[in-house]
Amino acid sequence: MRIVTGTFSHETNTFSNIPTTLEEFAKQGIGHGDEIAQRFRGTNSIEAAFIDASEHFGFEIIWTVYGSAIPGGLVSRDAYEYFSGHLLEGIQAAGAIDGILLHLHGAMVTDDLDDGEGHVLEAIRRVVGPDLPIVTTLDLHANLTPRIIQNCNALTGYDTYPHVDVYDRAYEAAEILVKIIRGELRPAMALQRAPLITPLQSQVTTHDTPMKRVIDLVHRLEDNPQVVSIAAFGGFPFSDIEPAGFSCVVVTNSNPALADQLAKQVADAALAERENWIVHPTPPEEAVRRAMAAERGPVILADIADSGAGGTAGDATVTFKTLLDLGARNAAVCSICDQEAIDICLQAGVGAEVHLLVGGKRDRLHGDPVSITGKVRLIHEGSFVRSGPQNRGVTQTVGRCVVVEIGGRGGIELMLTEHRAHPNDLQYFRAFGIEPTERQMLVLKSAAHYRAAFDPIAAETIEVDAPGITSPRLENYPYENLRRPIYPLDEV
Ligand SMILES: [Zn+2]
Repeated sequence: MRIVTGTFSHETNTFSNIPTTLEEFAKQGIGHGDEIAQRFRGTNSIEAAFIDASEHFGFEIIWTVYGSAIPGGLVSRDAYEYFSGHLLEGIQAAGAIDGILLHLHGAMVTDDLDDGEGHVLEAIRRVVGPDLPIVTTLDLHANLTPRIIQNCNALTGYDTYPHVDVYDRAYEAAEILVKIIRGELRPAMALQRAPLITPLQSQVTTHDTPMKRVIDLVHRLEDNPQVVSIAAFGGFPFSDIEPAGFSCVVVTNSNPALADQLAKQVADAALAERENWIVHPTPPEEAVRRAMAAERGPVILADIADSGAGGTAGDATVTFKTLLDLGARNAAVCSICDQEAIDICLQAGVGAEVHLLVGGKRDRLHGDPVSITGKVRLIHEGSFVRSGPQNRGVTQTVGRCVVVEIGGRGGIELMLTEHRAHPNDLQYFRAFGIEPTERQMLVLKSAAHYRAAFDPIAAETIEVDAPGITSPRLENYPYENLRRPIYPLDEV
């Protein structure tokens, strides 16, 4: 059995002015051929699951290309053509194959395409013909389109957010593909969308949220022996495209009517909870005062509107500025992405006092630049090995990292990074000499992915209502292309 695989993953925030070029993919490491296996073997990743499944089920993997960039603005035409081109060439060069197994995201928007994954799948289908089985994994934040399900045979989606089950869902996708190839399974797939767009915080599955209740329903429905897999997609709301929002895909074993019925049942359950998806973050001043008054730390101040993992500039300043204004101490901030400030610190060197204007430079949506004076405490090349529940063992880079200490020892440690960081692992602090459990408060620029690693150490978690293009206040976004009517923008 010979199976071709490839990775092309991006979550596109169409409100971002940072183009996702080939260079953005290169920052996270582009892979070709067998080097992809070498990089991911033994890690808690999708690619490692494909490797393990190949050994268990006895198939050969033909690796094509790996590309995954930090969420940001529109994927450039060049980048799209590079990865889709390498995928297609790899498939054509592989000779006789039995199936295709993909790692896609489902929320990619390019310069010209609202439905990046749908077009990738369509192009592959055109090349391989109607009979070769294609199975893909998708992210829980995928915005599903008919084109996606019309051009693959089955798919799996994550059941968790933070996404701690990517390995399991990828292994499941490989198993489904093997069963199709062996003739043990004839998938029938149905897609149902709900007229619902939801913020990321109520899609979290670490505690009782609407998404958690939907996933619990999915698991009960999956007990039906005719069901192969059900994926509920919370969707990625920061994308002004027609399909953004909640959807469900059901895969059954040759039972299209059941697939339709269950997909509708899940979509209806999500819509029935419509008011519960709305979240109520805390104003910055109130949040910081509460963190300062807390009996013990660390209090997590989640800067949810500036989530690097959601495509923001990573240089929002309002929460950080509130720490300064209120005189917060024993605080660490991860991070502000600011090349200009980093360059000044590199010039000055470790131990030097620096005057900087940090953050708020990429656009007018994330607060103003803030003037600070501090001491360069650390300069680091910026890579580390992840140790938490997400992608454990995978090497991560934030570009070069500088820690600036403001207000002397015990003041505020501001991390400056070259790349947009999305702190979802304790190593985002520990690798840079900051022990997160010893701080009174930690500012994390993350919508929700921080929870897998930081909930276990948090004394309290506060979602801060600061400006930014991953703010959960969906009524404030200038949507023009989104399907309507859709809740909560319209009554449905
Ligand atoms: Zn996601």
